[in-house]
Amino acid sequence: MPIQDNEQGATNQLKKIRSALRALRDAVILLNDDDGLEWWNQAAQDLLLLQSSDKGRRIFDFIQVPEFIKYYQEATTLNTDADADADESVHIVSWQDPNRYLKCELTPFGDEKLLIIYDVTRLQHLEAMRRDFVANVSHELRTPLTVLMGYLENFSDQPDMPANWRRGFELMTQQTARMNRVVNDLLLLSRIEIEETHAFNEIDMTKLLTHVYDDAQAYNQEYKHTIHLHIDTYDGLYGSEMYLNSALSNLVINAIKYTPKGGNISISWTKTAEGCRFAVEDNGIGIAPQHLARLTERFYRVDSGRSRATGGTGLGLAIVKHVLYQHEASLQIESVEGIGSTFSAVFPNNHVRSAAMN
Ligand code: ADP
Repeated sequence: MPIQDNEQGATNQLKKIRSALRALRDAVILLNDDDGLEWWNQAAQDLLLLQSSDKGRRIFDFIQVPEFIKYYQEATTLNTDADADADESVHIVSWQDPNRYLKCELTPFGDEKLLIIYDVTRLQHLEAMRRDFVANVSHELRTPLTVLMGYLENFSDQPDMPANWRRGFELMTQQTARMNRVVNDLLLLSRIEIEETHAFNEIDMTKLLTHVYDDAQAYNQEYKHTIHLHIDTYDGLYGSEMYLNSALSNLVINAIKYTPKGGNISISWTKTAEGCRFAVEDNGIGIAPQHLARLTERFYRVDSGRSRATGGTGLGLAIVKHVLYQHEASLQIESVEGIGSTFSAVFPNNHVRSAAMN
């Protein structure tokens, strides 16, 4: 094919791509190496109220939302292995309309960057409806359950109960207790998700972990594991004591439940370069690799029979994930089936309260 035809073909192709981008309902902006506006489509023009004279002006003149600036800087400055944890996008509230939610996604290529801004208002509303629905249903179930449990307890205490009824009452008591645990965990999860500002305080981690350890020992009576608590730093945390207590206890109780009797469990609190690390290690049943990514989903269990038999609700790790997220930490799971598991989280330095300062 003659070179001219080739060039003509490429130009036509480019024109097609440009008109496709222009027609997109999402805002597309091409930025140069100085973060200046190079090209944009109609949706970006409408969103940022751009004029052709704005070419070359920096993106921060138009979007001044702090979360966006932080995300942008992280996405453009990190380009080593450390950026594996960098967020792929950021959700912000529109600066023009507080009822509109936007998702910004920045892709650096060479010295330039492509910024795509999606309107996710509808999705956010659906998500809010889901959260409110679960919270309302759980709340509505609470009172009837309390009444049921109260009467069941009263009747079960009757010495003259016919023997053929006793088993039925036992099962009803067990199942209502289970339903009560599920409802309480769902309520806790909704509360953690819905609360926008959390009551954060300075937490004495030595005290909190000793408390978690004492509760674990009480739960451990029938399992007879050896449980060790290693506190290698007196550093504390800035966070929610109630939620952290619940999350860390969940991890320790899981280690107890999923380890055959007489196992070894080690709980530790150590200082690292990035912050402070909490870890629970067990030599229990372990988890096959294909389950690891889904463990923190609500009601996901490797073996639902075992989970139910040990009183599990299937919501524990979902609670853990949310609580850690509030504290800018994330759950790491290392596990080998038949050998054991380690569940850990590193709390970043901005949440750590140095013991030396107290
Ligand atoms: P559950 O109430 O079922 O324990 P979780 O959300 O706490 O719910 O845990 C989800 C699943 O993860 C459990 O059902 C279990 O299969 C697995 N799991 C959690 N912790 C451990 C552990 N320490 N060892 C092995 N499996 C675990």
